[in-house]
Amino acid sequence: MADADKKRCFSFSSGRADASAASLDLIGSKGAQLAEMCRMKLPVPAGFTLPTWHCNSYWSSGGKLADDTRRAIDEGLETLAAAVSDRAFGDLKNPMLLSVRSGAAISMPGMMDTVLNIGLTHDSIAGLANRGGGECFALDCYRRLLQMFAEVVCDIPAETMEAPLERQKQQRGTDKDGDLTPDDLRNVIDAYETLIEERSGAPFPSDPYVQLSAAVTAVFRSWNTPRAIKYRQIHDISDDLGTGVTVQMMVFGNRGEVCGSGVTFTRSPSTGENAPYGEWLMGAQGEDVVAGVRTPGSISSPTKDSSPTTGADHPTLQDAHPELYEQLISMMAKLERHYRDVQDIEFTIDSGKLYLLQTRCAKRTAASAVRVASEMCESGLIDRREALRRISPEQVSTLLHPRLDPTAGATAIAVGLPASPGAASGRISFCADEAVRLGDAGEDVILVRRQTSATDVHGFFAARGILTATGGMTSHAAVVARGLGRPCVAGCKELDVDENAGNIVVAPLLARQLGATDGSQGQSNVFANDVAVTIKAGDVVTIDGDTGEVFRGAVPTIPADLGGGLKAILGWADDVRELGVRANADTPEDAARAIDFGAEGLGLCRTEHMFFAPTPLSAMRRMILAADETARDRALNEIEPLQRADFEGIFAAMGERPVTIRLLDPPLHEFLPTSGEDVEQLAAELGCDAREIVHQAEALKEQNPMLGNRGCRLGIGHPHIVAMQTRAILDAALNVAARGLVPRVEIMVPLVMDARELETTRKLIVREAAAVFARRGEDIAFEIGTMIELPRAALLAGEIARHADFLSFGTNDLTQTALGLSRDDAGSFLQHYIDEGILDRDPFASIDIDGVGELVRMALQRARHAKPGITAGVCGEHGGDPRSIAFFRDLGLDYVSCSPFRIPVARLAAVR
Ligand code: PEP
Ligand code: MG
Repeated sequence: MADADKKRCFSFSSGRADASAASLDLIGSKGAQLAEMCRMKLPVPAGFTLPTWHCNSYWSSGGKLADDTRRAIDEGLETLAAAVSDRAFGDLKNPMLLSVRSGAAISMPGMMDTVLNIGLTHDSIAGLANRGGGECFALDCYRRLLQMFAEVVCDIPAETMEAPLERQKQQRGTDKDGDLTPDDLRNVIDAYETLIEERSGAPFPSDPYVQLSAAVTAVFRSWNTPRAIKYRQIHDISDDLGTGVTVQMMVFGNRGEVCGSGVTFTRSPSTGENAPYGEWLMGAQGEDVVAGVRTPGSISSPTKDSSPTTGADHPTLQDAHPELYEQLISMMAKLERHYRDVQDIEFTIDSGKLYLLQTRCAKRTAASAVRVASEMCESGLIDRREALRRISPEQVSTLLHPRLDPTAGATAIAVGLPASPGAASGRISFCADEAVRLGDAGEDVILVRRQTSATDVHGFFAARGILTATGGMTSHAAVVARGLGRPCVAGCKELDVDENAGNIVVAPLLARQLGATDGSQGQSNVFANDVAVTIKAGDVVTIDGDTGEVFRGAVPTIPADLGGGLKAILGWADDVRELGVRANADTPEDAARAIDFGAEGLGLCRTEHMFFAPTPLSAMRRMILAADETARDRALNEIEPLQRADFEGIFAAMGERPVTIRLLDPPLHEFLPTSGEDVEQLAAELGCDAREIVHQAEALKEQNPMLGNRGCRLGIGHPHIVAMQTRAILDAALNVAARGLVPRVEIMVPLVMDARELETTRKLIVREAAAVFARRGEDIAFEIGTMIELPRAALLAGEIARHADFLSFGTNDLTQTALGLSRDDAGSFLQHYIDEGILDRDPFASIDIDGVGELVRMALQRARHAKPGITAGVCGEHGGDPRSIAFFRDLGLDYVSCSPFRIPVARLAAVR
């Protein structure tokens, strides 16, 4: 053990400290930052911090204060006595009171306990009163001590302790604590002391040292309260860290003439504006500011766009005490320069003297994070790398979509998977056709389905958002919604969707008291529907695709915000980034949007998505059901120009950037109608009996279509489809080249399991290409590659690479087939697996590094061994997930490809 690790106690007082900011892991963040502020000669009340290992000793010794901890407290008190000469702990005439606070290495705001005013006894109340503040002040301090001690040390419920105070205020005819007379306070104190003795079986300790060790013990205990444990689970914080305990001399914002307490940020945590942003309450303790009993005042006059509201009857600190205000401002500037980041600072003014009680790097909104990072970089406070480190890819994501207004205070009725970010409200529709009708009529619609299929896609276009009861992060709904930039909540198990009856029954959710506390994630922390709720077609719901939450009614949203330096920051990321970022896009519009977001190419064009518009879908259906070759070729001839036009649009939008077009992938039956109306319509078009269509559709149906006649198997069985698609792609490229552009064409073969499949398909493509070039009398360069999305393909990637110009990992199917988990059905039990700790996270959202990741690593090695320098990317949904992106980058892949809206996220994630 290093000497510092053995040290029992770390003391601090203004100008000197045993520890520093670097001691964070050893003594917790609160103690480390107080020590650092002391070293900076800032006015911090003296104190000491017990390192976190005391907490672990407490728990490992079965909940007893170890002798070492008692010695540490004694040592701390000795140094404190030496540092503070104008009062003393335990002194009756001039008592020093102490605060006892928690502080783990990673801050867990509000999760653990605090006890203030430790050291005050019946016998020292008069002494405290005589040193300034008077009798009421001293009695109130004692009353507060009893109240906190009862709640934290004796576990007496807060409501029980609140009751005598409320009664006394009622009797006095006031709602303010400050109006109580000394006798009123004595009544409350009597009631508190009785309660403590009755409930805990022992009187409130009159020995300051007993109070102190009881408070330290209570803080250790609070490390393992259910709320702290839950918080650590949610935020991935280890249970082994333990909390430090900081014991510090009390200063009082409620004593004397010039006093108060406040919290201030060096810049706005909500907009990032570079102006002080803070609140204070005159004549109040810090806990009063937090409790919100009175409306505080702003510390300074309002600025242009970011100042908290000032209580109308409360002066600003700037007006009330200009000198103290100036002192505070200069300390804030010093702290921000020192930490090179926005600080969240607690201060107290006691009898005209300013003290700092805490500083920490401020939690902030995504908009604030971006603005602060770019402005701090421009002013030279941080460099570009640091600016990039300061913004999380997820923060970027939230800026690209409308979000729920964080002040709306809505309560979720259900929660599913956050499948596609953004928030949307609208009337529920259970049917894609109806969604289109309502959308055309100007209604905002949320399309709700048990599960979705390819035939719902027109409803996706029309809807503001999509909500499904089943399906996972790579289900059809999720993939398509992300591509369109529509918010989507998928796999919401609590919903019992009855599409025929036109209603949803939302199962009761267990009340959940915990969620994000820093405002970065969920809107609501409490799910309140203890009974089942029924929602009908036409009712309004709101979905939040960032959190997976579903709300009843319309919750206000705030628009996407692309300003504030985001462009500059992404540009800096591009300057240092080595991993390419391409887009998964299926239409010219998506391709253009992808370029706006910074795509360097198109890594996956799923050609089947083009068929979901009514005209090509009808031709496709006729092709599938064609009775003979003539009818089939007639249908193909109808499809070809439509595909060609789409490809032309995409090539034109992408300019000289590479464009990877994948041949048809899904099983053919997915294109066939399911509803009676559609079947009748197709029968009319084909001039056949509707029953015949139903019969053929049944014949094409597979038990396990994901492992069925799809991918390259389809093209090998139906070479005319490959030929038609090859013609459409190459004719489009030649047409675009004729306009002076230089398209870079990549044709991609899906779902191969063996090199011979690729060899066969490649021959088909090459033969058709030769025919196109002969017909046109001109040619154009193009590449043929394949997807690695089956474990066997990964194992044989070396062999496959010999026939491929490039490889692209389809990690959606690779995850499905490697884990044997259906992309569309696993949602029903994945969360249970995660809750049980069997899986760490959803493998469809973030790559399973140990399994699927290993397959990718091995395949890449084998492919590069067989064909050095072969281009290899990822086009599964993992290409937009920051954690997966870091893994792919480290493997040495050439690019990731993701939906256009994830591109800014990927550009940033690629350098973090
Ligand atoms: C994949 O499987 O990862 C992939 C990109 O293809 P799709 O999602 O279309 O099956
Ligand atoms: Mg696939």
